[in-house]
Amino acid sequence: MASHSCCVYLGDKLAAYGFGNDHPFGPQRHAVFEQALREQALDTRVDILPPVITGRETLELFHTPDYIDKVIELSQSGEGYLDNGDTPAFEGMYQAARHVAGCVEDAIEQLMNGHYQHAFVPIAGLHHARRDTAAGFCVVNDCGIAIEILLNRYGLKSVAYVDIDAHHGDGVFYSFEDEPRLIFADMHEDGRYLYPGTGAVTETGKGDAIGTKLNIPMPPHAGDELFFKMWPHLERFLVKHKPEFILLQCGADSIDGDPITHLKYSNKAHAHAARRLAQIADEHCGGKLLALGGGGYNHDNIAKTWTAVVEALAYGE
Ligand SMILES: [Zn+2]
Repeated sequence: MASHSCCVYLGDKLAAYGFGNDHPFGPQRHAVFEQALREQALDTRVDILPPVITGRETLELFHTPDYIDKVIELSQSGEGYLDNGDTPAFEGMYQAARHVAGCVEDAIEQLMNGHYQHAFVPIAGLHHARRDTAAGFCVVNDCGIAIEILLNRYGLKSVAYVDIDAHHGDGVFYSFEDEPRLIFADMHEDGRYLYPGTGAVTETGKGDAIGTKLNIPMPPHAGDELFFKMWPHLERFLVKHKPEFILLQCGADSIDGDPITHLKYSNKAHAHAARRLAQIADEHCGGKLLALGGGGYNHDNIAKTWTAVVEALAYGE
């Protein structure tokens, strides 16, 4: 039985998802988070769970078989790129990607079975990968896999995906653009100034799903003032669609000082988002809130921001 209401996944097999020490998405991201979590004694307020691996069939809930074949092939050589040059192959990436997706799958089971109310998976939140290709450091899209699991394995009628990473969650948005059961809300740096260039305010869903997607582009250099001004709009949108489960992609690359983006929030933004979503989840979803680390390429920001999110998820402990 769980001794706390929140669990956090940590371990070498999860840390193994990365592109080497010289790449912004390197293995230290997991290490700095774990160190900060233990220094702040948050490991006494949450349960730490070891990484879990999943199988090919779970990846294929979202990805095409041809693409998984390509990942397996390039995972053996560790050479070349999985896309047009953003996402290099690395040896063992198939194993590492199945651990990222496996932790997310396990976290969903823990929450759906009532073992925990909230969960956090660092390194996960790989929101750029498409069904048939990698993109933007994302070999698999664990967010998309999570959504497929919730809609198809558990039969939920309404799943919310909230994304406050600096980059638009294009791999999630375009894969579920016409899926009315996916309530999508994304605050990101305006695509005219940052990769991947998408997520205009006019993109609100297609067909039956029109109105189930909310894109909030933020100007470069936007800080806490604008974040806190826009946040209530996102909350109202979510509550209106009565989600049964909330996913949060809380990328730390929207915090001031990130080397590859231009947003300037403080970690108060992420703490507020996590706290409010935990409250909304407790009121409307029987708790079920799963936070995914997402981007973030400044190590101090990763340490501060992800621990602030865990602290918010562990409230009451
Ligand atoms: Zn990002």
